[in-house]
Amino acid sequence: MSERVLSEQPYHYRRRALVEPDWRRLPGWRDVTEAEWRDAQWQRAHCVKNVRQLRAVYGDLLGDAFYADLERDQAERATMSLLLPPQMLNTMAPGQVPTAEALYADPVRRYMLPVFSDRDPAWPSHPHASRDSLHEAEMWAVEGLTHRYPTKVLAEVLPTCPQYCGHCTRMDLVGTSTPQVDKLKFHLKPVDRLDAMVEYLRRSPGVRDVVVSGGDVANMPWPRLEAFVDRLLEIDNIRDIRLATKALMGLPQHWLADDIRAGMHRLARTARRRGVSLAIHTHVNAAQQVTPLVAEATGAMLDAGVRDVRNQGVLLRGVNDSPAALLDLSFALLDEAAIMPYYFYLCDMIPNAEHWRLAVHEAQALQHAIMGYLPGFATPRLVCDVPYVGKRWVHQIESYDRDRGISYWTKNYRTGLERDDPAALTRSYEYYDPISTLPPAGQDWWRQHAARPVRAAG
Ligand code: SF4
Repeated sequence: MSERVLSEQPYHYRRRALVEPDWRRLPGWRDVTEAEWRDAQWQRAHCVKNVRQLRAVYGDLLGDAFYADLERDQAERATMSLLLPPQMLNTMAPGQVPTAEALYADPVRRYMLPVFSDRDPAWPSHPHASRDSLHEAEMWAVEGLTHRYPTKVLAEVLPTCPQYCGHCTRMDLVGTSTPQVDKLKFHLKPVDRLDAMVEYLRRSPGVRDVVVSGGDVANMPWPRLEAFVDRLLEIDNIRDIRLATKALMGLPQHWLADDIRAGMHRLARTARRRGVSLAIHTHVNAAQQVTPLVAEATGAMLDAGVRDVRNQGVLLRGVNDSPAALLDLSFALLDEAAIMPYYFYLCDMIPNAEHWRLAVHEAQALQHAIMGYLPGFATPRLVCDVPYVGKRWVHQIESYDRDRGISYWTKNYRTGLERDDPAALTRSYEYYDPISTLPPAGQDWWRQHAARPVRAAG
């Protein structure tokens, strides 16, 4: 009887052991030793940055058509350049000798190694898509320090990462330029930029929470990162510090290195003494990326004294847009790696992202579908980062035109741009569903009312 009832549940939980895919299944890494694989320097030195290096890893496993598809994407659509540490690449098509077919179908490949044929052919970009779609640079209090929420700031301490995600919301700034996108450059020298951030925070007693991000803090020389966080820890009103690093998943070897563990231990000890919560926020989008090395690196950070490790994933079509994919990922994080499922963001309205984006009503359905399986404290919230507003839970919508895919949102605080704007708290702010998800009447409306951009603004 109980078996029959269980099998009727929409999702069936079973504990699954983590697996590190065997990198030796790939011709280019056939002779790579365990010691090399665990070495962060080896991983950084063997990152795949172009099609030639990808061919060297896969040998004859993928046909020319796949590489042509990738090259066309790099030339005509990509907003991020290629950068894949071996650890990240190895999580694509795990458990098999990959073929082009397997890679095309693979969720990690779809967001980390986008190809031209993935993109929406009719509307690669939404007419309202933009670089810096969240207007973070407009809200810089000083260069790189976004002050959007009253009590929280985002410190973009560097513009690089050990890996580049195809859908990166900070495509305006992060990474090297692509044929489609000339990246914004910081003007201040790194040391001056960090000094200016600390000075601003010293004179901002209303700020209690600093997200130290980029980019990815794993690319910052450790002594510089430690010195910066140490200075934040000296500011009396700063109570939460969150270090943002996708590398916990993409390059766990970095966080396992002895000098990094020792440095984190020093920071965590100071944080605890001062009563500050020091946490790591990572970014994992598919269950197969949670491997034993990721769990080990997370354990090392918790052992070093970090209070919590949380995941902020991105909701992406073809990657994790099903209840089972979200729950499998959340259980892998929570049960096997001690990472707290925290958020899944809707993919932002950046150029050439329509094939990844979900409509708000699809996200609402997913939020509904995952309720009740995870503990309440570990049930991730699905959130929409509404331009000029900030994160809103997907059910906080005020009104919604489903035909045209326009949702309307309000907010309860002023960003740094609106200190003197009396309408800021009563105005509605718009967010747009992908046009391909709209009914025919809505798609017709957009065809009549919008020019169809095919290129990211460079
Ligand atoms: S790790 Fe984060 S900042 Fe870096 S490319 Fe990916 S999404 Fe962008």
